[in-house]
Amino acid sequence: MEENTPGLTLLGLGAMGTALAHAWLAAGHRLTVWNRTPGRAKQLVGRGARIAPSVAEAVAANRLVVACLLDDASVGETLDGADLAGRDVVNLTTGTPAQGRARAAWAAERGARFLDGGIMAVPPMIGVPEAGAFILYSGSRDLFDEHRDTLAVPAHPVHVGEDAGFAALYDVALLSAMTGMFAGISHAFALLRREEISPRGFAPMLAGWLTAMTSSAYSTADQLESGDYTRNVTSNLAMMVEGNATMLRTAEEQGVSAELLTPFMTLMERRLADGHGDEDTTGVIDLILR
Ligand code: NDP
Repeated sequence: MEENTPGLTLLGLGAMGTALAHAWLAAGHRLTVWNRTPGRAKQLVGRGARIAPSVAEAVAANRLVVACLLDDASVGETLDGADLAGRDVVNLTTGTPAQGRARAAWAAERGARFLDGGIMAVPPMIGVPEAGAFILYSGSRDLFDEHRDTLAVPAHPVHVGEDAGFAALYDVALLSAMTGMFAGISHAFALLRREEISPRGFAPMLAGWLTAMTSSAYSTADQLESGDYTRNVTSNLAMMVEGNATMLRTAEEQGVSAELLTPFMTLMERRLADGHGDEDTTGVIDLILR
């Protein structure tokens, strides 16, 4: 165990908090933990963690205080009575951008520096550098730079801005894109479900196809930044809407509801009806901006 690794406090030992705790202990950090249900901390004592009997003592133990609790309300409930003056508070609890900003103001009122975080990982990926996990941070750049080595232990740290709402915003943007992908995967398997086609056999083809299609993120970004949605269009909207008809008809033939597809297809049709058949799907973004 290294002698000079800085100490830190971790509040919350759920599935994610426990994974974080194991990573910091394995890296030789002095770790003080607190959990609402005290029994969950006991398993960490054998690994060298110190259990704080109260939130106040946990917060007093170290300058760096990390919270990984259920939601924003539980962070408020847990920390409201604690003296945060001079502390560096890092909130790894998932929330919305507005909650991140409000929590930053709340921490500033109490004399603490603050970073909001968004964990882009599931617990088994924590402390496993090759797993590809990363943690988004926004808020105090000084806090981030000072504690960067400690924050790098569970997963690669990425600071996305001084605006404390940005970590949550990036987090939710990535999760939203993933949700659309899950919808597509669900529909694809449903189409094959009643046939003698092995899902395991199809999976590598599906994963490979989705991977090949992800470059569309770059062309969408380029069109948004240039303002020219017809730039480098490879499949135009007019052609894609034609293709949608084939997709919908196939769903019907296979006895599959198209409800996962139709919201996006409806927007594509609206954009086409507005006279943008020479674009691809970037114009849909303008349609959903309220
Ligand atoms: P768990 O449900 O496993 O744990 C929740 C933790 O919050 C427990 O320590 C629980 O304490 C504590 N808690 C709940 N309510 C309160 C409260 N009112 N006051 C004090 N403590 C409270 O969740 P995870 O550990 O999985 O998730 C923690 C955070 O990490 C969440 O914000 C989640 O979105 C985020 N995250 C989780 C991922 C995952 O895959 N698990 C992935 C990415 C982010 P107690 O033991 O007493 O119930």
